[in-house]
Formats: sequence, structure tokens, C-alpha cells
Amino acid sequence: MIVQTMREFGSHRSCIRDLFDYGLRKAREIGAENVYDYSLGNPSVPAPAAVKDAILATLESHSSVAIHGYTPASGAPDARLAVAEDLCRRYDAKIRPENLFFTCGAAPALVSALHALAVEQSEFLLLAPFFPEYAVFVTAAGGKPVIVPADTETFSLDIAAIERHLTAHTQAVIVNSPNNPSGVIYSAAELEALAALLCRKSAEYAHPIYIIADEPYRELTYDGVEVPFLPHIYADTIICYSYSKSLSLPGERIGYVCVPDTATDSEELYFAIAGAARACGHVCAPSLMQRVIALCAEVRPDIATYDQNRQTLYHALTEYGFRCIKPHGAFYMLVEAPDGDAAAMSERAKKLNLLIVPGADFGVPSFCRLSTCVSPDMILRSLPAFRALMETYRK
Ligand code: PLP
Repeated sequence: MIVQTMREFGSHRSCIRDLFDYGLRKAREIGAENVYDYSLGNPSVPAPAAVKDAILATLESHSSVAIHGYTPASGAPDARLAVAEDLCRRYDAKIRPENLFFTCGAAPALVSALHALAVEQSEFLLLAPFFPEYAVFVTAAGGKPVIVPADTETFSLDIAAIERHLTAHTQAVIVNSPNNPSGVIYSAAELEALAALLCRKSAEYAHPIYIIADEPYRELTYDGVEVPFLPHIYADTIICYSYSKSLSLPGERIGYVCVPDTATDSEELYFAIAGAARACGHVCAPSLMQRVIALCAEVRPDIATYDQNRQTLYHALTEYGFRCIKPHGAFYMLVEAPDGDAAAMSERAKKLNLLIVPGADFGVPSFCRLSTCVSPDMILRSLPAFRALMETYRK
């Protein structure tokens, strides 16, 4: 006997992966330069030079046994200290090394936080548009994913809709800003409104409703827009962070969970997250990478290429007549299907060798997602195909 839900997760391929594999096959057929692949969110800028320097310095200065050995389950003390100090400096926060638990990226950070909170009948709010893996993580933790539809006019937080979906079983709301797939950054005012609602509902239901802040894109912001530090706005915030995107290290699997002292039962919660990580086999994040982070906690990415890509695509596509949601963060952009059917739009685009992801799995079925972490050159080569795509709607 096998667990059918797990079999489903393992055999049901994501449409992003399907498109990516299709692109590889097509590239062999017609040449890679003729396929315009906007499917995957794999960083396209190299890791900052400081990362390579830190890897080399660590290899030089530590014994092989120390570099490749287990660290404490929660993380190497110097890495936890460096990150805590950086958060304190940047946000004038009071984060101690003991608030941090190193993980193999944001995914295990989220999984641990969800397992820690998934008491019987738990519900977790996913605010559309959302990263599709949330539904997998929540379900596997034994919780119920509850989807709050997007406000597809503004893509800002729809506080009234969130209120309608909160119940006595709601344990947490996952907030992802900068957002994958919209690139939207929620303002301090929106987050304050959410905080006020959650404070009121936590009191009504007599238990805390946490915010799980999923922040792998925190450093990827444009036009001077800032990402508010959520624990300053809502005390019951758990931060899940990753260096996958900010330092272009997705294959190295490094990130952390931060449970600030302000969170209700913060110590108990921290232990529950540590216990969940242990139970899921996620302890002891890669040792070399933790040491690299200890040296690179203050390093920020060079996002000039992502910014240029975002602007080129936004201006070209709006000029061709597409409605695009202007991203202020991350490296994605949503484009609305002119007839409201994004699955069909993705198929039409495929015929032009343009690979764009239909938004149904993100909770926005009338939009396609473009990953803008691609080469600027590919964008320029792909523009005639986007123009041709719009022409197919005018015939
Ligand atoms: N959360 C969001 C919103 C993401 O887009 C991703 C990856 O694309 C993750 C979490 C998982 O990140 P990681 O590679 O650090 O596990």
C-alpha cells in the first residue's frame, strides 16, 4: 500500500515543468535561439562575487571535517549571529540568534512552520495569486488550504475577502511579498489593515492567527519600493527566508525560519518548528553554505538585469495591447489573456515558440506568468512573437 496523496504529488507534474521540458525538446528541433522560454524562476544573474570569495575563504580556513560535518540542528552559531545582526541593523529589529533556525531554503522553512501549526482541522489561507507549492505543503502537513481569490484589478490585499475566509480553524495566513507570480509588493498600509483584521479575529477566536511571511524575494525590489518588515506591523509573524533568489543560490538549498520574540508563545513555537524540521528530516542545512552566509549576511544582489528585463517586457507588451500587472519586485510578470482564457493563451503562445505559464495553479486562471529572469537578448528576440500572439486575438 502506498499513500495516494503522495503518489499524486509525485506523479502530477506541474505545468511549469511540463513547459520547461517541452522547451528543451523544441530547442533540439529548431535551435535554442528560436525558443523563448519564460517558464522557470531560476535566477539568471550569477551569484555575487562575494559568495565565491566566501566559499574559497571557508575552504582555506576550515578543516575539511569542520566544513563538511554536521552543524547544530538549528544552524552554525556564527551564521545565526551574522543574520541576526544584519536583521537588527537593517530593520532596527530585536532579533537574536536564538530566533533563527537554518533550513534548506524557503520550502523546508514553510513546511516546518506549517507542520508546527497544523493542529486538527487547521486551515491556512492562501492569498491568490500564490506559489502553487503552498497547497502541497499545507495538505501534506494535514491542514486545509483555503484560497482567497485575487483582486485582479489591483492585485493588492483584499481585506474584505480575507475576512470572509477566516474561521475559528484558521491557524495562519501565508503572505508572500514581493509576490510570485505578480511581482506586487504589499504596502505598509495594506499590511497594517491585515494586521488589524487578524488582531481582531485572533481575539474573537481566542487563539493567535499567525502570518507566515514567505520572503525569498525580499531583496529583489525596483523603483525604490520597500518591503515592510512584517514583525514591526504584526507581532505574530513567522518569517521564512531563502538565499535561493537573493544570492542566486537555489541549488545550494539555504535559508532560515525566524520566530521573533514578539510572536505569541515564541519559544514554544520555535521548539515546535525545530521539532517539525526534525520530524520531516530537514535539520542541519548545508554546512558550507551556512559558513558562506556567515560571511555574506550583508551582501545584496545586483538586480540591474532583472530591472531592465521587467521594463523592456512591460513596455513592449503593453504597447502591443496586453494588460500587464507592473511588477515592483521579484522577477515575474502577469499578463492577462485578452479573452480571459490563460490556458488557451499559453497554447497559442506555444505555437509561436513562446513558453508562458497559465495562471490556474497560481489562483489566477485569466493570467499567464512570465519569469523575467532570462537573458535580455532572449527578450528582444521574443518580442515579434508576442506581437504575433496579440495579432491572433485580432483576427
Ligand atoms: N516561496 C516562493 C514564493 C517561491 O517562489 C519559491 C521558489 O520559487 C519558494 C518559496 C521556494 O524557495 P526555495 O528554493 O528557497 O525552497
